[in-house]
Amino acid sequence: MKVGRYQLTTTIGQGTFGRVKLGIDTTTGKEYAVKIMNKHDIVERELTTNVRREIGIMKQLNHRNIVGLHEVLSSTRKIYMVMDLVSGGELFTHMEKTGEGGEEACRKYFQQMVDGLDYCHRRGVCHRDLKPENLLINESDVLKITDFGVSAVVRSSADGAMQMLHTACGTPYYCAPEILTSRGEGYDGIKIDSWSAGVILYRLLVGSLPFKGQSLAQLIVALEKNDVHYPSTLSPAAVDLLRNLLERDAQYRISLHDVKKHPWFVVKYEENKAYF
Ligand code: ADP
Ligand code: MG
Repeated sequence: MKVGRYQLTTTIGQGTFGRVKLGIDTTTGKEYAVKIMNKHDIVERELTTNVRREIGIMKQLNHRNIVGLHEVLSSTRKIYMVMDLVSGGELFTHMEKTGEGGEEACRKYFQQMVDGLDYCHRRGVCHRDLKPENLLINESDVLKITDFGVSAVVRSSADGAMQMLHTACGTPYYCAPEILTSRGEGYDGIKIDSWSAGVILYRLLVGSLPFKGQSLAQLIVALEKNDVHYPSTLSPAAVDLLRNLLERDAQYRISLHDVKKHPWFVVKYEENKAYF
């Protein structure tokens, strides 16, 4: 199938809403990842305002740890987002394949994720749907955050928790407690990303989730207890950082900007390697 100058070939990914296909620019031969979304799945009002706004923001984000969006094409029924192709797969699968482990390897990826997010936060953009499937690795071992802003524009219901469960997050395990228990009140998007980054870091370091539950209700109970198990193999600095990220009260939760100054984070960190 051809869309604009792109020849769409194999499916390379499947998300909640989007199917992602390999697209070849027929004028240059260059390969891209093209995310296809059905307009039907997006609320009309949000399609005309939020989707356009988010796409506009995404086009302006230019950072080595964020998947670049080149252009957006549209047909009567579909929206096509033409993005950089990130061919090394999702973070955890990549780490399994390479056999990487230990705090050192985890830090290398965590630093890149935080660099990308802090860059966005400084521009007033929050991801709000951070989870392992949205962290991709390219052929040069560079982490790229994908699926930006889409979480904010999917078909929504009045109940924030159900929305997260049924649409944006296939899984609510990475969602901050204030979203899951929200009764419609607003929350700070920047601190939402800190929480998710904490859950991801815990999974990287410990290999399991910090909060579990067979149902959303059970997960909420676990979150309320906030009784996280920190294995004795973790370094004290890693535990301190995790505690700061997995702080229930968003007001006291560390921002990702401040994470960049944390003793666990700064080890072998090259500031500005990150930009452009
Ligand atoms: P959704 O919003 O529906 O979750 P995503 O943007 O997360 O869609 O894409 C779904 C999957 O497609 C991802 O989990 C990933 O495996 C793959 N994918 C997404 N973007 C890219 C990309 N730029 N390069 C390679 N694979 C991608
Ligand atoms: Mg996704």
